[in-house]
Amino acid sequence: MSVYAIVIHGGAGTIRPSAMTPELETAYKEGLQEALQAGYSLLENGGSSLEAVKAAVMSLEDCVLFNAGRGSVFAKDGSQEMDASIMDGNTGMAGAVAAVRNVRNPVELAYTVMLKSQHVMLNGKGAYDFALAHGIKTEPAEYFYSPYRYKQWKRMQGSEDTALDHQEFPDDKKFGTVGAVAVDRLGNIAAATSTGGMTNKQWGRVGDSPIIGAGTYANNKTCAISCTGHGEPFIRAVTAYDVSCLMEYKGLSLQEAMHVVVHDKLLRIDGEGGMIGVDAKGNTAMLFNSEGMYRGMKGSKGQEEIAIYK
Ligand code: ASP
Repeated sequence: MSVYAIVIHGGAGTIRPSAMTPELETAYKEGLQEALQAGYSLLENGGSSLEAVKAAVMSLEDCVLFNAGRGSVFAKDGSQEMDASIMDGNTGMAGAVAAVRNVRNPVELAYTVMLKSQHVMLNGKGAYDFALAHGIKTEPAEYFYSPYRYKQWKRMQGSEDTALDHQEFPDDKKFGTVGAVAVDRLGNIAAATSTGGMTNKQWGRVGDSPIIGAGTYANNKTCAISCTGHGEPFIRAVTAYDVSCLMEYKGLSLQEAMHVVVHDKLLRIDGEGGMIGVDAKGNTAMLFNSEGMYRGMKGSKGQEEIAIYK
């Protein structure tokens, strides 16, 4: 019997039960559940892992609680710029968009870049024009607005500091990005990631999420990975591809390779955050070196989990 599974995340960081109300926790879990189900039902009906990760990430982008699509954080100039990418482990094809504004579902645009352009990555105005030319939904600034993110930015406006999502005090960090990885009935794997980035970032700043090999990677021979965390160290460590390399060249399992990268290599360069992964045999993992990570998984062997804290 063929095995299929999907794993999702909604960001990692200092997520403490003490800073959470029961209502908010329920809302986060519902958001995760909805996204998980959007991807899983496609896999169940014979859909591809690529379609499943796109559907799950679009669902998370539409949920205002997560820092991606609607509810993205604000940049220094008060704009909301988003990054996203997607990769097909079967074909090795990838698509990405960086610093895009007003695009309702940046992951859908990344998918369209992969399928309908000769390029891997488009940014800014060029990406926006490409979206319009391909009938991708756009929205006015109000659609992306959330009072919570706005207040977060107002507290930092004028300073040179940037903050990861939900970071209010130096020791209260939470990263916000969403992502999904999946394996389908045919044993094909895929990964997708989408984010609003960091509060008060320089507009034009691009994090790891749209960078193939850093925030997202998929290769049927090894693994599909989606990362969340402080983008700059994740870019420097070529994080997602490093997991794949440890599997391909050192023969490590998915879990072992992710463990080395998350709990050793990233920590040495202050790379706080986490990642989710899957391989073609249906193994899955969700690892983080921060206090928590919004996460969930569902597999055809009956496994199902939604969790926030350690
Ligand atoms: N990695 C994202 C970025 O640096 C942020 C995050 O994952 O929370 O843009």
